[in-house]
Amino acid sequence: MVAAESLQQAMTLLAREPGAWLPIAGGTDVMVLYGAGMLRARKLVSIWNLRELRGITETPAELVIGAGCTYTDLRREPVIAREFPLLAHAASWTGGIANQNRGTLGGNIANASPAADSLPALLAYDAELALASVRGERRVAYRDFHLGYKKTAMVADELIRAIYLPRKYSGYFSYARKVGARQAQAIAKVAAAGLGLMVDGVMRDVRIALGSVAPVPVRLRKLEAALNGKTSDAISAEELRRLVAEEIAPIADIRSTAEYRGAVAGNLVAEFVAQLCASEANQPRTEVNDLLARWNTLEREEAAREILPCCGARAWADGMVRRRPFGGVGELLEAAREVWHGLTAADWMEAFRSHPRIGESRPAGAATAKSRQWSSEEQRRVSASAEEVKGALAEGNRSYEQRFGRIFIVCATGKSPSEILQILRRRLQNDEAAEMREAANEQEEITQIRLRKWLGE
Ligand SMILES: Cc1cc2nc3c(=O)[nH]c(=O)nc-3n(C[C@H](O)[C@H](O)[C@H](O)COP(=O)(O)OP(=O)(O)OC[C@H]3O[C@@H](n4cnc5c(N)ncnc54)[C@H](O)[C@@H]3O)c2cc1C
Repeated sequence: MVAAESLQQAMTLLAREPGAWLPIAGGTDVMVLYGAGMLRARKLVSIWNLRELRGITETPAELVIGAGCTYTDLRREPVIAREFPLLAHAASWTGGIANQNRGTLGGNIANASPAADSLPALLAYDAELALASVRGERRVAYRDFHLGYKKTAMVADELIRAIYLPRKYSGYFSYARKVGARQAQAIAKVAAAGLGLMVDGVMRDVRIALGSVAPVPVRLRKLEAALNGKTSDAISAEELRRLVAEEIAPIADIRSTAEYRGAVAGNLVAEFVAQLCASEANQPRTEVNDLLARWNTLEREEAAREILPCCGARAWADGMVRRRPFGGVGELLEAAREVWHGLTAADWMEAFRSHPRIGESRPAGAATAKSRQWSSEEQRRVSASAEEVKGALAEGNRSYEQRFGRIFIVCATGKSPSEILQILRRRLQNDEAAEMREAANEQEEITQIRLRKWLGE
């Protein structure tokens, strides 16, 4: 076995003798095969220590997970728990602690078992993989990667370098279940990952992925199409089970019979749909709430004044007023995003200036009393933090303002002061265009949270 010192060295070995070398990351699958005498005599190249394969980075649009990240790495990362709970669940129930410290996401994908725990989550989130070789890098949608039982689209000289997840599911209802002999330390008999939105009592963008019910993990595309646009009462649990059975091809093996797998898959999907339909109570309510109904009828100037503190940019408030009346809170939240992204950079700057610096209480520009009150609530954890962290944040704010000429904007709700400090330091490395986008996305989230507060949702 050779321990590669760089990704380039590993890729060069794979390219020099295609098929002769087998990459080994954590070794939790490879060593089992080796122990069972089933590893075809090949040379091993260890990619375990490669820096290029580790680390989780955020861009405004995507989360990038190095293929060498372990389940422990995934479990420790707050952005995964917050935005990709299906993957966080899968990481938590993969093997035991030792396995989680060693097993990698890239290894789980490349090993291509239909029962692998992380794969339904990757399908549901429309993950993409970066496949690297000495010939260059290509990006492949995960749905096109897994071609058949233990067969993938990766060719002999390629490695999985990273996994890309689009950051657009934070408002979705999510459902993750693994049915096995036990929850952990057992291979799944059936695993399910479900995502979806309820908007005004109607299902939207439903995504259902199942593992262990076909030679590859599957998305139930026909069922998804049948559910999208429907209300909760439009389709019975019995009909759901029938539609699931049409789209899967479970096998019988030592762990389970095909009938059992089929029945469990139907039950899990029925449970997901029932919970999705009931989830609206926990999401922004979309029936016209009393405050919104009243706001819909206010005179223009008054309506703009009332909604302005949610964002801070006058052009945004005017844009929202022009779009009235809103039929529900969901509609209002969607419009808020659209109007925000249609504004000029000068409007964005006006919104940014309505916030105090992180760790301070006075905004640089104009702000209403309501906006100041919300800012102080949003920054409560920062205000209560140790002087040392506050000092580091003040220093970071100064560097940021010197570099970008405006205040640092971050959605502080739910973030610890040290997390904010980490984000600030990372964003100091951005170029101007990327940073402006990131700041705008943070403001968008702040606005969404404030709109819900304003309407008492
Ligand atoms: C006790 C035990 C319990 C387990 N429980 C579970 C479980 O509950 N759920 C589950 O899904 N799995 C489970 N597994 C399987 C295994 O831990 C996972 O599949 C793990 O993610 C494999 O990662 P690894 O880094 O150890 O892969 P390795 O064993 O190093 O490699 C596996 C395969 O992937 C290839 N590979 C690895 N990294 C790359 C890369 N970056 N690019 C290209 N190819 C690569 C290797 O060449 C090899 O073919 C368990 C295994 C054990 C031993």
